Amino acid sequence: MNESGCSPKLPVQAEGQRAPRGGLRGWFGRQSIRVKINAITLVYVTIILSLLAIAAFASSLNNGVRAFAQGESLWSKAQKDAVHYLMRYAQLRDENDYQKYLREIAIPLGDRAGRLELHKPSYDYAVVERGFVAGGNAPEDVPYMVSLYRRFHNIGDLKRAIAIWNEADVQILQLIETADQIHAAITAGRLSAQRERQLLDRVEQINARLTPIEIRFTATLGEAARRMRVLVLMVIVGFALALLGGGLALSTWISRQLRTGLMTLRAGTRRVAEGDLSLQIPVTTQDEIGDLTLAFNDMIAHRRRAEGQLKHTLSVLSTTLESTADGIIVVDLAGRIVCFNQRFVELWEIPKSVMLTGDGNLVQLEVARKFEDPEAFLNKFRALYAAVEQESFELLQLKDGRVFERNSRPQRIDGTVIGRVCSFRDVTERKQAEAHIQKMAHHDALTQLPNRALLMDRLDMALEQARRNGSLVALLMLDLDHFKNINDSLGHSAGDQLLRTVAARLSGCARKTDTVARMGGDEFVIVLTDVKNRDTVERIVQAMVEEVSAPIVIESHELVVTPSIGISVFPDDGAHATGLLKSADTAMYQAKAQGRGNYQWFAPRMMLAVDERLELEHGLRRALERREFSLDYQPLVSIKTGQVVGSEALIRWHHPRRGTVLPRSFIPLAEETGLIIPIGAWVLRQACIEGKRLQAQLGKPLIISVNISTRQFRQDNLLRTVEDVLEESGLPPHTLVLEITESALAANPQETAAVLKNIRDLGVRIAVDDFGTGYSSLSYITRFPIDLLKIDASFVRDLIEDQSDAAITSAIIALAHSLKLEVVAEGVETQAQLAFLRERVCNEAQGFYFGKPVPAAQFSTLAGQIDRAANDGSAASALAGVG
Ligand code: C2E
Ligand code: MG
Ligand code: MG
Repeated sequence: MNESGCSPKLPVQAEGQRAPRGGLRGWFGRQSIRVKINAITLVYVTIILSLLAIAAFASSLNNGVRAFAQGESLWSKAQKDAVHYLMRYAQLRDENDYQKYLREIAIPLGDRAGRLELHKPSYDYAVVERGFVAGGNAPEDVPYMVSLYRRFHNIGDLKRAIAIWNEADVQILQLIETADQIHAAITAGRLSAQRERQLLDRVEQINARLTPIEIRFTATLGEAARRMRVLVLMVIVGFALALLGGGLALSTWISRQLRTGLMTLRAGTRRVAEGDLSLQIPVTTQDEIGDLTLAFNDMIAHRRRAEGQLKHTLSVLSTTLESTADGIIVVDLAGRIVCFNQRFVELWEIPKSVMLTGDGNLVQLEVARKFEDPEAFLNKFRALYAAVEQESFELLQLKDGRVFERNSRPQRIDGTVIGRVCSFRDVTERKQAEAHIQKMAHHDALTQLPNRALLMDRLDMALEQARRNGSLVALLMLDLDHFKNINDSLGHSAGDQLLRTVAARLSGCARKTDTVARMGGDEFVIVLTDVKNRDTVERIVQAMVEEVSAPIVIESHELVVTPSIGISVFPDDGAHATGLLKSADTAMYQAKAQGRGNYQWFAPRMMLAVDERLELEHGLRRALERREFSLDYQPLVSIKTGQVVGSEALIRWHHPRRGTVLPRSFIPLAEETGLIIPIGAWVLRQACIEGKRLQAQLGKPLIISVNISTRQFRQDNLLRTVEDVLEESGLPPHTLVLEITESALAANPQETAAVLKNIRDLGVRIAVDDFGTGYSSLSYITRFPIDLLKIDASFVRDLIEDQSDAAITSAIIALAHSLKLEVVAEGVETQAQLAFLRERVCNEAQGFYFGKPVPAAQFSTLAGQIDRAANDGSAASALAGVG
C-alpha cells in the first residue's frame, strides 16, 4: 500500500519473462504446441517410412538371393546338359548335339560375363544384363542381382558363394577347352576311339568335379539367403523398436510439459480466486502455455495494481473521513449504515451499541431525540429519503442549543442512486458569531445601544406605523454639554464610562417601545413612538434632563454633565426620517445656544439660526485671505509694582456685515472646522511681530502671551512654527508665553510633555490658561513643564462674595508658589479683588480694572497710563482713562 498519495508503478513485463534455454530441449521448448504435435507425427511417419524402406530393401535382397539361386539351378542344369550333349556328340558325332552343347554352355558363360563386369569398380549395366539374361535369368531380376552382388560380394556367405562360382568357372573353361578339342577332332575326322575315350574321361572328370562345387554353391547361397532374412528381421524389429521408443518418449515429454503448465495455471487461478495476489507463476515454456502464463501474470499484476490503487483511495477516503470536522454517515437505500465517522458519533452522542447494529433507522431515532420535536424531525428525514434524487441543505436547531448544518446528497454508482450521504457540521459558534456581528452592525459597541443604522430602521418603522394610526412620533436629538472637555481632561476611558452611564440613564427613562440610539460621540437620538400628545414627550424629556444631569462619579471625580436636547415631532416637523432628524438637530443647537442643559421644541424659525452658522463658517474660511483678523492686546500688570509687564494677544474678527466678532463666537467653529491651524499660526506670527514693536516702543522686555488651542497644539509642526516665527520677528524667546488649556495637557500626556519641553528649550514659557475650569488637579499639571498658571476669571469674579471661590483662589496661589509657578489672575475688575490677590501674593493680574484689550497702536498709550498710575499710586485712574 502506497500511503504517499501516488499509485505504485509495477513492472509489467519483467514478471513473466521466460528464462531463455539453450540446446535442442531449449529450442524445442520454445516451439508452439502445433510444432510439437507435428514433430510427434513426423517421428511416427518416419518410423513407418523407415520400416517400409527396410522391408523394400530386404525384399530386394531376397529377390537377388532368389535370382542367384534360380540362376544357379539353371547354371547347373545347363552344365549337365552341356556335358550330356558333348558326350553324345563325341559318341554319335551329330552336329546337332554339338549345337545343343553350345546353347547349354552359353548359360554358364553368360553368368560369368555378368559377374566379371560387376566386379569392375565401375560396371556397365547393359553388359551385366546381357550376361545374366544369357545365363537364363529374367531381365527383371537383374537389378536385384546387381544390387546384391555389388553390396555383399565381399561379405560372408555371398563372398564364399562367389569364390565357389569362380572355382566352377575354371572347370567350365576346362570343359569348353575339351569340347573344342572334341569338335576340332570330329570336324577334322581324326578322332580316334582312344582319343575319344581320353577326351570323354576328361569330360567326365570335369563333370565330376563340378557336381560337388554346385552342391556347395547351392548350400552357401541357401545359407546366405537364410542369414539375410534373419538379419533383415532383426534390423526391422530393432529399428522399429528404437523409433517407437523415441516417439513415445517425445510425446510423453511434450504432454507432460503441457500438463505441468496447465496444472500450474489451474492452481494459480484457484489461489487468485482465494484472494492471493502476490502470486507470480514462473514461465517454464515458451509455447502457448507460456504465453497463457504470461498473460495470467500480467492479469494478476494488473489486479494487484488496481487493488493497490483501491487501497490507496480507500486510505485517502478513510483518513479524510476521520480528519474532517463534519460528522458523516452513509446509509444505503434499505436503511443500512454503510459508513460513518467518529465525528458523527461524537456530534450526536450516539451509543456505540446503536452504531454497531448498522441499522440506519435506529440511528435516526437517536438523532431525533436531540430535537424538541423528534417526530417532526423524523418526518422531515423520511421525506428526504423518499426524494432519492435530491440534494438538500438544512439548519438544525438542537434541544441543547447547538446549531447543526446538514448537507445531504444521493450516493450514486454510474448514475444510479444507491444510498445517501449526510454530513453534519456544528455551526453553533459561527451562528453565535453571526448573531454577534449582526448585533455589532446594528449596535454601538460602547453603550450597546442601537446605532444609526438600526435607529433609521426603527424610525422608518415607527413613522410607517404612525402614518397608519394617525399617532405622533417624537424624535429627540441629545448632545452632552462640554463633553469634549471631559474627554480631553480625564481621558477617553473616563469619557467612555460617562457615555455608558448616560446611555443607561436614558434607556431607563425611555419606554419599551421607544428607541434610544447613539449616533456617535456624545450624540444620542431617542425615538418616542405612539405618542398621544406633546405633554407626554415633555414629561419624558424632563425626566431625561434630570437623570442625565445627576452627578456621576468617575475615577473619584464627581462630574456633572448636562444634556442639550432638540425635539422634533412627526408629522408637524418633518414627514420623513431625514427631515425630522434635521429639525431635531436644529432644535438641539438652539438649546445649546440657550445656555445648555435644556431642551427646545423645534420651530421653523430655528432654521434661520442654522443658516447663520453656515454663513459664519463660510465667512471664516475667507477671513484670513481677506485680512479680516486683528489682534487686541490686554495688559498684564505686576501686582507688586503695578507696572505693565506683559500683554495677552486676543484675536478679533472684523466681519464685513456683523462688525467686530469676539473669539468665543468663532473660535469653537474654527476649532471644529480645523481653520484654527492657519488662524492660530497667523496669530502667533502677528503677535510676535507686533510684540517686538511694542517692546521697542515701551523700551522694556514686555511679555507677549499668545493663546494656543488644543487642536493647534496637537499639530505636529507647532515647534517649527514657533521657531520660525521667533526667528522672523526677532522677539526674544523668553518674552513669549504660550497659553494652553488643561484639556491640551490631558489629551496626550507623554507626547504633550515632550512637545512642551522642546518649546521650553527655545526659552519660551508655558502658561496654563483658565486654570480651575478643567478637571485636572494641580499635582497633575506639575508633571508638565509649566511656568505659569492663569486663574480663570470665574473664580476671580465672585472672589469677594463667594467664600469657596476665595478659598479655591487662595489655595491655587499657595500651591503654585510651593511648586515654583508664577500665578496670574484673570478678570480682575475691582480694587477689592486686586487687594485680595495682592494679599495672597499673586504675581500678576489682568482685567478691566487695568485695561480692556486694545489694538496694538493704542497699547503703548494704555501701558504708559498704567505705569504712570502705578507710579502715582492710583490704578483706578488708569482704568478710567481707558474705559
Ligand atoms: P482668555 O485667554 O481667558 O482671555 C481672556 C478673556 O477675558 C478675553 O476675552 C478678555 O477680553 C476677557 N477679559 C479680560 N479681562 C476681563 C475682565 O476684567 N472682565 C471680563 N468679563 N472679561 C475680561 P476675549 O478676548 O473675548 O477672549 C475669549 C477667549 O477666546 C480667550 O480667553 C481665549 O481663550 C480665546 N481667544 C482669544 N484670542 C485667541 C486666539 O488668538 N487664539 C485662541 N486659540 N484663542 C483665543
Ligand atoms: Mg488667554
Ligand atoms: Mg483665560
